[in-house]
Amino acid sequence: MQLHNKILLGLFVGAVAGVTANTFAADAVWLNWIIDNVANPVGQVFLRMLLMTVVPLVFASITLGVAGIGNIKHLGGIGGRTLAYFLFSTTVSVVIGLTLVNTFHPGAGLDPALRQQLMDTYQTQTEGLQQREVALDVSLLVNMVPRNAVQAAANMDMLAVIFFSIVFGAALTLISKDRAAPMLRLLEALGDVVIKIIDFAMKLAPYGVFGLIFVVTSRFGWNVLGELGGYVAIVVAGLFIHGAVGLSLFVKFFARRSPLEFWKKIRAVMVTAFSTSSSNATLPTSIKVAEEELGISPKVAGFVLPLGATMNMNGTSLYEGITVLFLAQVFGVDLNVGQQLVVLLLSVITAVGAAGVPGGSLPLIMVMLATVGVPAEGIGIILGVDRILDMCRTTVNVAGDLSAAAYIDRIERRPEATTAA
Ligand code: ASP
Repeated sequence: MQLHNKILLGLFVGAVAGVTANTFAADAVWLNWIIDNVANPVGQVFLRMLLMTVVPLVFASITLGVAGIGNIKHLGGIGGRTLAYFLFSTTVSVVIGLTLVNTFHPGAGLDPALRQQLMDTYQTQTEGLQQREVALDVSLLVNMVPRNAVQAAANMDMLAVIFFSIVFGAALTLISKDRAAPMLRLLEALGDVVIKIIDFAMKLAPYGVFGLIFVVTSRFGWNVLGELGGYVAIVVAGLFIHGAVGLSLFVKFFARRSPLEFWKKIRAVMVTAFSTSSSNATLPTSIKVAEEELGISPKVAGFVLPLGATMNMNGTSLYEGITVLFLAQVFGVDLNVGQQLVVLLLSVITAVGAAGVPGGSLPLIMVMLATVGVPAEGIGIILGVDRILDMCRTTVNVAGDLSAAAYIDRIERRPEATTAA
């Protein structure tokens, strides 16, 4: 059986087993034992195998990507185009989300008693989020420049790691070829070694995915999903529309590829994103699939995908817009067109700032809520369903990154692009 089918099977069997266990043995001692000693460790080992490759992979691939692009002017052109695509696709996804939530008003009918009950239940988690300080100001930009590159790597502060790698790669193109050659060869070898490690990790993927999904589905409070049914349905519908229609159209018209084939080839990436809920953890698989399945040049994949995993989160921005408006509806806060435009803008900006880890966008949503006058602790209302929605939005996030890589790859293959380099 092919690996991606095995991974899909792991996902399916894990989900069915988890939901069954949740239904018939929710609090059983043996179930907790299996979660703690089998499913979670297997899932975590898979996740960590992927995560441990992220920093060396990003450093090697961005530096090589930038050095491969060759001249700084051309790099600026590709960088500008990539960022413009990110901005465009993120804005489209937020608009889809805001249109849905304004049309269906899922928050209007939520029972105040249920609202209080959910906020009480998730109070501890809400307080935990409040302690993660975030500021939506110029410090976001300043912090992209690391004070200490090693520390940025150790904290997995990916924007800072990316900044360092871009500058490093650009500087490499400016020193003499003789001097640069050994460093380039070293980085190429580093990249190859990391890809081998990812191969090992992917052999574990069917079991790891099984473990991760089993833990989520067997512990999940399915009743909360029902109670917030309208909101969940709007988020899932929005993500589906952006993926199936928006991204498919972008793949067709920007990347000039068959959307069906695109979706088929990136299956392994989508399952990894869905089960890990982390763009960072999915990045190694994305790069591998982009190069091996989609035939995207390593130069483009190595540059666009790490940037995308950190800055381009279509699913997250759509989710943020819907969540802020939903909670405004729940608390009876009427947001006029101007305020909704602020929500749109903030959704785009915070999707860039959100960390590519499970729940990475939650602290930023709290800042957005406070900015438009909705009680930030209201986030407790949706925390019970967040993990499931995180799985879905992360899948759209990485699919968006791959669509960007496919687009830039097409542009780079044009004859005039080669001459420009
Ligand atoms: N989990 C998301 C990601 O890694 C971020 C988020 O929306 O919380 O892409």
